[in-house]
Formats: sequence, structure tokens, C-alpha cells
Amino acid sequence: DDDHLESLLSQLNDQQRVAVEHDLNPLLIVAGAGTGKTTTLAHRVAWLIATGVDPRRIMLLTFTRRAANEMLRRVEAILSGLDHHADRTGRKRPGRGVWGGTFHSISARMLRKYGNALGLDSQFTILDRTDSEDLLQLLRIDMNLADSKKRFPLKGTCLDIYSRCMNSQRRLEEVLQFDFPWCAEYQDELKGLFRAFVDRKELQGVLDYDDLLVFWRALLDSDTGAEMIRSQFDAVLIDEYQDTNVLQSSILQLLSPEGQGVTVVGDDAQSIYSFRAATVRNILDFPQDFPNTTIVALEQNYRSTQPILEMTNRVISMAPERFEKNLWSDREQGPRPIIVESDNEDVQTDYLISQILEHRENGVPLNRQAVLFRASHHSLPLEIELGHRDIPFAKYGGLKFIETAHAKDLLSFLRIAENPRDEVAVMRVLTMLPGIGRKKGAQLMEMSKGQSDITAGWKDFKPPAATRDHWPLFIALIQSLSLKRSDDEPMSGQLKLVRRFYKPILESKYDNLRARENDLDQLERISDRYVNRASFLTDLALEPPTSMMELKDQTQDADEECLVLSTIHSSKGLEWDVVYLLQAIEGCLPSEMALRSGDDLEEERRLFYVALTRAKHWLYVGCPRRYFTRNNSFPGGRNVSVRKSRFLSDSVLECCEIINADLEIDADDLESYRSTGIDSRSIRDGLKNRWL
Ligand code: ATP
Ligand code: MG
Repeated sequence: DDDHLESLLSQLNDQQRVAVEHDLNPLLIVAGAGTGKTTTLAHRVAWLIATGVDPRRIMLLTFTRRAANEMLRRVEAILSGLDHHADRTGRKRPGRGVWGGTFHSISARMLRKYGNALGLDSQFTILDRTDSEDLLQLLRIDMNLADSKKRFPLKGTCLDIYSRCMNSQRRLEEVLQFDFPWCAEYQDELKGLFRAFVDRKELQGVLDYDDLLVFWRALLDSDTGAEMIRSQFDAVLIDEYQDTNVLQSSILQLLSPEGQGVTVVGDDAQSIYSFRAATVRNILDFPQDFPNTTIVALEQNYRSTQPILEMTNRVISMAPERFEKNLWSDREQGPRPIIVESDNEDVQTDYLISQILEHRENGVPLNRQAVLFRASHHSLPLEIELGHRDIPFAKYGGLKFIETAHAKDLLSFLRIAENPRDEVAVMRVLTMLPGIGRKKGAQLMEMSKGQSDITAGWKDFKPPAATRDHWPLFIALIQSLSLKRSDDEPMSGQLKLVRRFYKPILESKYDNLRARENDLDQLERISDRYVNRASFLTDLALEPPTSMMELKDQTQDADEECLVLSTIHSSKGLEWDVVYLLQAIEGCLPSEMALRSGDDLEEERRLFYVALTRAKHWLYVGCPRRYFTRNNSFPGGRNVSVRKSRFLSDSVLECCEIINADLEIDADDLESYRSTGIDSRSIRDGLKNRWL
């Protein structure tokens, strides 16, 4: 057996081994990008299982569900490299039993199981971000706070403020004063609104993202809950700990007050989610929170070649506050990072595509190349061009496909069937019917209040002429969906029923029918893999596929080769042979919105660092000299001259090669780029119409 364990450790360096073999006392691994933190964590899970811990008693928290699945796949690979007997539990797929996922998805699982201990209905539905905004909007109207003359914060800002209170566990007064001073004059109104928001969610049996964490914490805070849950786990491991917030760290402390079995890993230089109340203090304070902590530092970088490391080290060394880290690599020399200068975005696009194709020609498949950007719309011109040239790509981050109107319409029917009290869903469905507006919708909601079968309350309703034909079909649909509770047929059956009813509505309500129908086809295909309505809706609400492209990616053969397009935020923890960063220019990265505060600016620097550190062999950084923008001075939009990002200081540029892409394409082409430069706006608008 010792041999087996030895072979599990054989690929690791000394520091990594120390971490993997560490006993169950609290363990903190702080280390820079690409030093094998995630790798070490996966080996630690495998080690725990191989030494006899039941996988079902291990909780693995990651930032995305995708990351959890990927890690568990690695755990299985590590264990299957060992003799089968090494897995003492005798299970074939040991990774399968581990509780892996995000804080939110694991909380949803916990609350479905134990929520009734808190008086929660286990049939709760989950409000995603836009649903929560919609509910707040309904309340603002009810409470006369939506009057545009009043300058009251918009629904999105309201939700940000509420969410900040919950996630940083601070009072509204304090949050307003320090984080949203421009909204402070509305403190009383906001307080009233948020209290009503809390009550309304309770009444409707819905939970939003923040509730998931709040209720999980509350469950652990109760004696019964703590007893039920704590005793179930021997180990809790968390990746990307620098991006957890106060609420999440308090959950960890309640899960394991002494830190027994707790392992967290993170990198302070990669903390990029403070806008969601994440705090790097969680890492810094960990040794105080858990007094018996061992700290392991990893210093060897296995991801990037020395020239790339040289550049990224210089970028982060400019940060005023950070843990000192000495990253080094013994990877072979490679090409220096390339700064791609160009007259405008279109030239940049053209040059990048030529490089992408060249790398593919040289044996780097598309899925090992990634294009990264600060904001989702930065990649739109590139998406168009990739489409023209038939280069397949998958896009991550940014606008979520499932948040598009037609997908939400369809899913609302299922939500009602699951939880008839879900007001946002009921309202959405009712006002979809011709002749029924908000007022009539509210009336109908009133009529069905307190009924377990909402349609029963509508027996005496006289539908307006416009919807007279729809109405009986509508009632029949809701009733038949509500009857379906068993787990024995795929969800696509229910979606098909809804689509049959929804088709004429879709046709009268939207343009772009073909594209929208395609989206719904994809959704139907995904639903085919679910038999349980609650888990289907939960998965979509918590971690929806981000775009059509990703849907395609999931439903097609896994080996279909796609170029990766991703926001920097969604690229966390990942790596590619070739990385292209778009728009490393002032106003984009750092983003215009971050210029106001020093803290925001530092977060932009870390984002820049995260982007660059994804690259293994080749790194391209795009710096167009003109960029299409629309702001107060140019509401119609125009190409403006821009400077390179301030993060590309002289000392950083020193270790790069600088290429002028204008020279790489012929002069005639450049002329045509010049004359069409302004067109990128209409491209963006077209895509907005398509997606928004
Ligand atoms: P990030 O901060 O970006 O999340 P990380 O610290 O989690 O990075 P990993 O993703 O675990 O780093 O590892 C980076 C790369 O280094 C991976 O390709 C991994 O396989 C490789 N690697 C890690 N440890 C070793 C090792 N001991 N020997 C060889 N390769 C290693
Ligand atoms: Mg990692």
C-alpha cells in the first residue's frame, strides 16, 4: 500500500507533497499562479480517499461547477493510476461520491435536504440575478419608488446594495456610507424596500443567490443543523479562497470550528471579485481564524515559460500591496510575449486570426488557444469574423444565454409548475398572453393567492378578447405540468409541451425567429439529460451555460475542437498553450469605471495579471491605437484614439516583442479597414438585438 501512495505522490515536488500528506489540522496553501495549487488540492482529495476517508464525507468547494467536475475527474484519474485496491471504499468512481461544487450549488443541495429544519419548503425555486431584479422592480412600483423623477437607485444598483449587505455581513447604513455614498440619501426608502423584498421572497417560497448562503449559514448556526451537517464531513477543501467573501468564510468556520479537515488554497495577487464582496482578508486572517494552521508556500511555476513569467512577475511587482513571491520556472525558453499594435480593432482581429490559424497549422488545436477580454462586448467584432471564416468557438462568461427573454419565458412555465407561488415567474407568464398587462396580471395573482392549484382561483376569470383562444389552453398546460412530479421521464417532454403553447407567442413577440428557435432547440437538448425538474431548474439558475456556443459545446461530441473565448473573470484557474488578450488599452483594461478609486484600479491590475498568467507558451497582447466607443461626449459613438494600458509600463514592455500589425496586412486592406472601422457599432447593435 505504501507503494501505491508513493506513486500518487511521485509527480509532486517537495512542498506539494508536504501539503498533500498533511494531517487533518487546518492547512493554508498560498502561492502564485501556475504553481500547482489546484493540482495539489486534487492530489490531496485523492490522498484522503486512498488513505481511507469515505469520498462521501469530503466537501470540495470551487468557484464554478465546471472546475469542480474537472477536479473530480482528475481525482479519479489519479486514483485509477493506483492499484484498484488502493481505493479502500471499493467504489469504482470514487470522485463521484465527493460533494463537489460551488458554495451556491452545495447550499441548494443542503437546503433541499435539510431546509425544512428551518421551515423552508423543499420545493423552493431559485431566483437568478435578473429574477431578483425583476422582483425588486415589482416592489419599487408597488412602493412608489420607481418614479424616474426621483433619481432613486435603479433596480440593479438596489440589488447590488442588498447583496453587499448580505455577503459582507454588514449593516445597510455602513454599506451605503462606504460603498454606495451616492445612494445614502435614500437609506430609509432602501431599508423599506429590502425588508419588503425579504418578506416577499419568504411568502413566495423562493430563494435568491444570497439567500442560499444566508440560509446555509443559518442552518449551520443552529444546534440541530450544525450537528446534522458537521458530523457528515471529515474534510472540507476550498480552491480560489482569495475570492470568497465574509459570509462564505463564516460558513467554513461553522462547518469546522477548529478547522479540522480544512484545506484552503489561494493567491492574493489573483483576487478579482471584490465587486461581489470577496475579500482577500479571508486568506490573510485564516491563521488567526484557525489557530493550529500550517502554511505551505509553492514557488515553482509549472505553467509558463520563463519569458512569460518574467513579464507577469514585473506586472504584479508594481502592485503596492502583496505577499512577496519568487516564482521561477525551469521550463525551456520560449518566444517572448508579443505586443500587437494596430491602427484599430479590425486590424487587431485580422492579425489575431492569422496567428490562431498559424498555430493550428503548427499543431496547436483550437481548444488549446484562448482569446481573453475584460468585457464581453470586446470580443464581438472577433466573433463576427470567426463566424465569417467558419472557425468554431465557445464563449464563456458575459451574457448568459439562459437570461435571454425567450429562454426565460419558456423556463417560467416550469418554475410555476414547481412553485406556483413564484411571483416573478407567474407574472412573466401571465403578461406574455395578449391582452394581459401588469394590472390584470396583478389581479390574477390576487385571485389565486393561497391556492395550491393557482388555476383554481382563475375559474371565474373572463379573459379579454385578445387572449380568449389561448386561455383554456394555458390553463390546461399549467395543470398538466403541475401534475408531473415523478422522475421517470426526461424534462424535454415538459419543454415540448410548453413550446407547443409558446410558439405563437414567440412569433408575435420577437423577431429573429430562426435564431431563437435554435436556442430553444438547444435548451431542449440539454433538458433531455434531466429527469428531475428541480435539479434542472437549479442547475440552470446557478450556473447557466453562458452562451449558445457553450450549449453547443456541451451537447456536441466533447472532442469537437473549438477556439475558447472568455472574459478574464471566467478564465480563472485555467491555462492554454496560446493566449490572446484583447484591448489592453486605457479605458478597457483598466476599465473606465475603475479609474475613480485606487482599490478598483488595483483590482484591474490583478485582472490583467490573471489574464497573462493563463499562457503556457505564447502570449499576445492586443493594443489597438483607435477604439470604437460611445460616451457622453460622443453619444453616437466614434473611433477615438487610445493609449496602451498603464499596466504595460516600460519595464514590462522591455521583456516583450512589439509587432505592428498594420504592416502585416497589405495597404489596400488597411484602407478598407479604415473606412469600415465605424461599422463595428452596427455589428455590436446587431449582436445586442440577437442576444439581449
Ligand atoms: P492558478 O493560480 O492559475 O489557479 P494553480 O496554482 O492552481 O494555478 P495548477 O493549475 O494546479 O496551478 O497547475 C499549473 C500547471 O502546472 C498545470 O498544467 C499542472 O499540471 C502543472 N503542474 C503542477 N504541479 C506540477 C508538478 N509537480 N510537476 C509537473 N507539472 C505540474
Ligand atoms: Mg488553480
